[in-house]
Amino acid sequence: MTHRFVVLTIFPEIFDSFLRASLVGKAVDAGRIAVDRVDIRDFASGPHRSVDDAPYGGGAGMVMMPGPVVDAIESSPPGHRVLLTPQGQRYTQDLARDLARHPTLVLVCGRYEGFDERIREWADREVTIGDFVLHGGEVAAMCVIESIARLGDGTLGNPESVVEESHTDGLLEYPQYTRPRDFRGREVPGVLTSGHHEAIRRWRREQQIRRTARRRPDLIEGRDLDPEEMRIVEDETGGPREDGS
Ligand code: SAH
Repeated sequence: MTHRFVVLTIFPEIFDSFLRASLVGKAVDAGRIAVDRVDIRDFASGPHRSVDDAPYGGGAGMVMMPGPVVDAIESSPPGHRVLLTPQGQRYTQDLARDLARHPTLVLVCGRYEGFDERIREWADREVTIGDFVLHGGEVAAMCVIESIARLGDGTLGNPESVVEESHTDGLLEYPQYTRPRDFRGREVPGVLTSGHHEAIRRWRREQQIRRTARRRPDLIEGRDLDPEEMRIVEDETGGPREDGS
C-alpha cells in the first residue's frame, strides 16, 4: 500500500532533500510513500499574497489567516487532516501506527504564532511532536512522514528490526553491540557471543525491562507485568511499584 501525504506549508522547499535522501528517498522511489506538497501561499490573495495578519486583541507576532489555509485544505484530496501544533495530542509510535491506517494524511504546517482558532474546525486531529515550540510545523510533518515510512515493510533491510525496536511493544530496545568484541577494554557481554539463542533472548528481554524501568518509569507504570518481569523491575528500582500492582 502507498501511504500518501499531502503537506500544506508555506515552505515546500524545506522537504527537498528530506524526500530525496536515504531511506525516505527509497520509499518515495519504490512508491511506498507519495508526498504532495501544497504551497499555502498559492491560496493567498492581494498584492503581497499574505498568509498572516496581526492578532485581534493585540499582542506579539502574526497569526495565520483562516482563508488561505482552509482553501488549501479544501482543495486537497480527501484524507485524514492533521494540524501540527504544540497544543495537540502527543506523537508516539502508537499514534504513528494509528495514522498509518489512513491511506491519505493531510498534514497542515503552521508558522508565525500559529493558526487562527477557526482553522481547527477543519482538522480531524491536532498533533504535537513534543513539549517544545518550533518555528513551524514542517519538522513535525517530517517526523510523521518518516516514522510512517519506517513502518512500511522493506524500508529497512530486515523487517524484524522494526518489530524488535524501542516503543514497538511499549519497552525500550535492549543494548546492541557490533564488532569489535573488545573496544578499548570494554567487552561485549558474553551471552551475546555464546551462540545460546534462548539465553540471548532471555538476556535481551531482561535488559529491555531494566532499561525501561530505569530510563522511562512512565512506560512501565500501568503495564501488565508477569511475576518474572515484576522481579526485574523491583530489582532495578529497589522496591515494589508505587501503585502496588
Ligand atoms: N503560538 C503557538 C505556537 C506557534 S509555533 C502556540 O503557543 O501554540 C508555529 C507553528 O509551528 C505552529 O503553528 C505549529 O504548526 C508548529 N509547531 C511548533 N511547535 C510544534 C510542535 N511541538 N509540534 C508540532 N508542531 C509545532
